Amino acid sequence: MPELPEVEVVRRGLQDHVAGRVVSRVEVMHPRAIRRHLPGTVDFGGRIAGRELVAARRRGKYLWVDLSSGEAVLAHLGMSGQMLVQPPGTPDEKHLRVRLTFADDGPELRFVDQRTFGGLSVEPVVTVDGVPLPAPIAHIARDPMDPAFDRTAAIAALRRRRTEVKRALLDQTLVSGIGNIYADEALWHARLHWARPTDALTPRKTGELLDAATAVMNAALDVGGTSFDALYVNINGQSGYFDRSLNAYGQEGLPCPRCGRAIQREPFMNRSSFSCPRCQPRPTTS
Ligand SMILES: [Zn+2]
Repeated sequence: MPELPEVEVVRRGLQDHVAGRVVSRVEVMHPRAIRRHLPGTVDFGGRIAGRELVAARRRGKYLWVDLSSGEAVLAHLGMSGQMLVQPPGTPDEKHLRVRLTFADDGPELRFVDQRTFGGLSVEPVVTVDGVPLPAPIAHIARDPMDPAFDRTAAIAALRRRRTEVKRALLDQTLVSGIGNIYADEALWHARLHWARPTDALTPRKTGELLDAATAVMNAALDVGGTSFDALYVNINGQSGYFDRSLNAYGQEGLPCPRCGRAIQREPFMNRSSFSCPRCQPRPTTS
């Protein structure tokens, strides 16, 4: 699943290439791509055609485009969803699912998704804490890149959860944007085992962890931002798209860059957690 930095690059691409343009036509090639839009294909097209795409927005790992109607197109990139901006007439991609054509006859916006776990839906917009959000993500907390992010409140929320620290980090209602990869990297930086109970963490240590998560996401964003090809707006949802330099995630058996011990992999919520057994000792059972 794409994490915050990848989604932010997609957002920037959409903002640069489609914001301010009026959609003339909507084609849905595969109904599965709009399965979250319950009223169906005709309704989906009718809510977008003739509207301007006002602005591309993001909160955490969620991405949407505001429509001039006051609604929003919410995009789920899933495992393999891509947004491509292509000149009209470019041969269709094999896994093209949705095409938006614009009134200015300029480049099309194409949603391409090989595995079809992603999709698009038109959603009503609600105002939460002064911010307009698509209704399905109204419960998602601000992410650390948000100018209005409240670090102190986020630290308190993480500590209040009373669970394993990694579960708290991944809980998008506490702090959004942190997924499995950046959680493992942040825990490595903060020298915390993923199973440490949050109520045993000091506010200072929790703050250190949150800052580490923010720093690794910013670093990935810097890399992604520079490798981004502005012409072929390859807004790729696949993780691994950025050439991340990772210290723990996916590094099983490789030496810890800090102490040299082999990074270990442990099962975690149907996925894996990677950590250094020396720098990140497992908590003793209380
Ligand atoms: Zn180590």
